[in-house]
Amino acid sequence: MSGDKKDVGDKIRRAVRKGAIETLARRLIAIPSHSGVPTREKEAAEFLHEYLSGNGVSSKLRKVEKGRPNVIAIVKGTTGGGKSLMLNGHLDTVPAYKMDIPPFTPKVKAGRLYGRGALDMKGGLAAMACALVAIERSRVELQSDLVLAAVVGEEERSEGTEDIVMKGPRTDFAIVGEPTNLEIQPSHRGLEWLEVHVYGKAAHGGQSDNGVNAISMAAKFIDVVESELLPKLGKKTSKHTLPPTLNLGVIKGGQQPSSVADHCVLGIDRRWIPEESLDQVFQEIYDVFDTVKKDHPKFKAKLKRDPRSMKTMTHVPNVVPSDHVLVKSLGSSVRQETGRRAKISTFWGWTDAALLTHFAKTPTVVFGPGGAGAHAKTEYVKVSDLSACTNVYMDVATRLCLVD
Ligand SMILES: [Zn+2]
Repeated sequence: MSGDKKDVGDKIRRAVRKGAIETLARRLIAIPSHSGVPTREKEAAEFLHEYLSGNGVSSKLRKVEKGRPNVIAIVKGTTGGGKSLMLNGHLDTVPAYKMDIPPFTPKVKAGRLYGRGALDMKGGLAAMACALVAIERSRVELQSDLVLAAVVGEEERSEGTEDIVMKGPRTDFAIVGEPTNLEIQPSHRGLEWLEVHVYGKAAHGGQSDNGVNAISMAAKFIDVVESELLPKLGKKTSKHTLPPTLNLGVIKGGQQPSSVADHCVLGIDRRWIPEESLDQVFQEIYDVFDTVKKDHPKFKAKLKRDPRSMKTMTHVPNVVPSDHVLVKSLGSSVRQETGRRAKISTFWGWTDAALLTHFAKTPTVVFGPGGAGAHAKTEYVKVSDLSACTNVYMDVATRLCLVD
């Protein structure tokens, strides 16, 4: 890095107010924004918008669905030189369920900030927002735009990032701030929720021979999945991501014990690798149907995509090559911050990065803080990682959005 760039970096880092990131993360955690809140992400979005505006960053709320706005903030580039960058993070969390900690009363203990969404991902979002605030305060002029998109609905159908893909803003590159323990994760698997509907024929339980039991038929389907399909998936590997998985997550069927069940539904979570196609994923299930039918001619089933899992855009895998300039620049920024070579790995879950990479043609990687307990009973983010992330986000912005 040139001397000039180092000065710029120092100037920006000095502009981060002490304690600001942790305070912002706490305030975001204290505003519930999960699917059980009648106003959903609205209060969190309005709060973040006011925080950014109050700190001199140009910000707006843009409606995605009734009462559910994304926050779009921007530090405008002066000349358009270099590459524009989006920092993307979600405003929603999963519900508290039955947490072992107070979900919405954030607490710090031993360097860990506890609360629902601390890790997934209000910590990362606070780190991103503070990066824009500090760059604005430092009066360092970027050449290309630095955008923050704080989006709704990532935990459900990703409607917030779909809206960004369709209506912009469009940037050259993007980073999603999901928790990665300061590792760079340029790839992950796709995610498809499937429903297998098994149909039988109703009859009295005392005359069960007159019926076809959909629950028993579903059991035959499960047998073949476990004896044939899972071992086949177990042999598949990916150059970019973790291997594929299939999880039987839900089973529902029948009315009452004295009736032969005429309908049974299985809910399946299928994580698919870049080397697979969605058609292949469907075909494997149809093949299981055919195998079951050979031994049980009365087996009747339909495969459906679960409408709750996405709005309009398939949750494809994310792949950005590890020698991509975004990964390399981020690697230099991580090294600058931690003094160590950045670790490049793969994200285990699915993220909005895939929608940006695939549908907006904006290469997007995942990079965020460390901690534990996303969606679990005890969730925390490492406080020291929050400022490390802000520093990395700011540094990579200067590498990409500022060329001279
Ligand atoms: Zn998340």
